[in-house]
Formats: sequence, structure tokens, C-alpha cells
Amino acid sequence: MNKIIAVALPKGGVGKTSTAVNLAASLAVYEKRTLLIDADPSNTCAPALGMPFSELTGGLFDMLTNSRPYDKILHKTSLDYLDFIPSDTKILDSEERLGQVVHNYFRLREIARNKFNIYDYVIIDCPPYLGGITKLVFNAVDSVIIPIKTAQFSLLAMSKLLESLSETKLKTNKNINIEGILLSMLENNTLAAQLTEERLYPKYGKYVFKTFIPKSTSVAESTYYGKPVVLQNARSIGGQAYLELAREVIVRNKECPVKELIKESAISKTSDEKPREIALSQNRPNPFSHSTKIRFEIPYRMKIKLTVLNLFMEEIEILVENRMEAGEYEITWIPKDLANGVYYYRFDAGGLFKMNKMILAR
Ligand code: ATP
Ligand code: MG
Repeated sequence: MNKIIAVALPKGGVGKTSTAVNLAASLAVYEKRTLLIDADPSNTCAPALGMPFSELTGGLFDMLTNSRPYDKILHKTSLDYLDFIPSDTKILDSEERLGQVVHNYFRLREIARNKFNIYDYVIIDCPPYLGGITKLVFNAVDSVIIPIKTAQFSLLAMSKLLESLSETKLKTNKNINIEGILLSMLENNTLAAQLTEERLYPKYGKYVFKTFIPKSTSVAESTYYGKPVVLQNARSIGGQAYLELAREVIVRNKECPVKELIKESAISKTSDEKPREIALSQNRPNPFSHSTKIRFEIPYRMKIKLTVLNLFMEEIEILVENRMEAGEYEITWIPKDLANGVYYYRFDAGGLFKMNKMILAR
């Protein structure tokens, strides 16, 4: 199997390069033959891998123009299973040089099909814009990973990207799909994170990777050491998160090819999945326990609030107020004052708002 994945979002500083480098290195740690290609003329993957520009012998520009042999273009890295193609051998003028070759929209696709089939995974780091070289990349790849930083502008950029992917799928590469949306710098417990998640999950929840990358010094610092975080410190929060992401990508591709997972039209459609309440299992009075159980099912990670109200609709207890992973849950409520009577519970999640009656009696 050979899978070509772009890491893209038309917005700067969201963790594209960090994701491309660290995911590629983590796949290689799992002994998947991996090729990392830097398609961003700013050429930042090379320093992230600890490769000085003076030692680069060829790059993407040479590959697209057929101007250097492959053994000069492909670079070995400190990981046996990871090869690397930089964007160019120099930073100066590379934007202009790559600009000269982007009119041949299918060149990269041809090369990818003929030359890259020895790899299990090809990961391509994209620049923070959609035109130019990104078009060539989108025509060549099977799927796209979308890194999202928890902020409003990331979501705006994502809408733009989804439009562009829809257009690509319609016109030039019908095989392109979303590999997954990655929270690439998650700062838990901030309002921005909460707002992003609240907007992201109801609409795009099923595309979001279970793994998220926390904002962590280990990821930021590893670039200064010129090592992927898994090599710098595999046990760090960032190292563990990227290894987990690689594992999720491998499992997804083995068990359920993304091409089948996402139907063609789904790419621009919104998900209408909502949490489902399974049952209120003790509507009838239970003479022994004087408790009641509430069961519900969550289709993807989302914020849930479950509140108990009295007969006068006053809140008397909050049972859950938390972000919860996908799954089935059962929550037992035991009233504190052990009073019999009628109560209600309010279930509030992902746009679903539900009230139910509970009768407790002994
Ligand atoms: P550009 O569009 O400019 O190419 P990018 O989307 O490739 O940017 P990166 O270069 O990967 O983004 O990351 C931007 C900055 O954020 C870098 O300084 C990087 O070290 C830092 N960073 C990335 N991921 C994390 C993380 N999980 N925790 C902390 N810092 C991070
Ligand atoms: Mg980058």
C-alpha cells in the first residue's frame, strides 16, 4: 500500500510543518517506509530534521524540472525508514524557482505514481496558501491532514480549504479525501479552545482525529535541536502525542481506508450527527435503590451538560459538565435529600437539548 498525504491549511503558524515532520518521523519509528517532502518554499523541514542547507544536494524544484538525479534529490535521515526531499537547496529565490514550474499541474502526480511506490507513506508539507505549488500537491495526493490551532481564524481557513478540496475533487483529482482534522496545538481550558471545539465538532466531528497534540514545550523546542520530537524525547507529551497520531493513521488506513470512509459528496457536507439518548432506564420507581439511571451515546468528542431540575424547573444538581469522548455512558443519580417526587433532567450537547421527566418513589 502506498498513501500520499498532504498537510495543509491556508494559514501560517498552525503546526503544518511540525505535524508533517513529526508524523513522518513517528511513522518511520513504527517501521513504515516513509518519505517526507517539503513543498513550502520557506524550506523549514530541513532545519527541523537537523539538516544544514549547505549539505542539501537537490530538492523538489530539481525533481519537477528533472534537473538533478534522484540520488541527489532524496536525502537519508537519522531514521532508517525516513527519506526526505527538501523544497530546494537554498532559501533565496526558491519561491520564484518553484513558481516557474507550477503551471504543469500534474507533474508531481506523475512522479509520485512512478517513483514513490516503494514507500508506505509519503507526507507532504504545504505552504500556507492554496494556489501555486499547493495545487500540484492536491492533484498528487490521496488525502489531506488539516492542522487546526484553537482560534477562530483557523476555522475560517479550514472553510476555504474545504472549498478548494471540493473543487479539486470535482475537477482534477477525484480520489482526494480528508485524512483527518488535527488539533495541532491544543491549549486545554482556554476559552479559544472551548469555542473552537464547540464550532468544530458539531460540523466536522467525524473527521477530527481522536489524537490531539497539546501545546507543549517539547514540540516547540525540538525544532531548535533539529530533531523530530520522537527522537529528541519520545516520552515527552509531544512525543507521545505524535506517536499516537501515527498509530491512529496506520490503524485507520489498515482497517478502514479513508477512501471508503468518506463518501464523495461528504467532503463539503456538514455532519448532522448528534448525541443520542439511548434510554432512561428507570422511569418506574425503584423501591430499593431510590436512584435513577440516565444512559446516552456520544458520537464524537463534545461538551456535555446534564442537569437535574425539580418540579419547579429549578436546577438542583449538575451531574456532568465536561468534554467527553465518543462512547456510551450511564450515569446514576441518587437524590441528596432522598425525597420522593417528580424531577426532570436536562441534556444539553452539540445542539441537542432535551428534557425528560423522572419519578422517584420508595
Ligand atoms: P507556516 O505556515 O509558517 O509554515 P506552520 O503551519 O508550518 O507555519 P509550524 O512551523 O509547524 O507551523 O509551527 C509554528 C510554531 O508553533 C513553531 O514555532 C512551532 O515550533 C510551534 N509549535 C507547533 N506545534 C506546537 C505544539 N504542539 N506546541 C507548542 N508549539 C508548537
Ligand atoms: Mg510550515
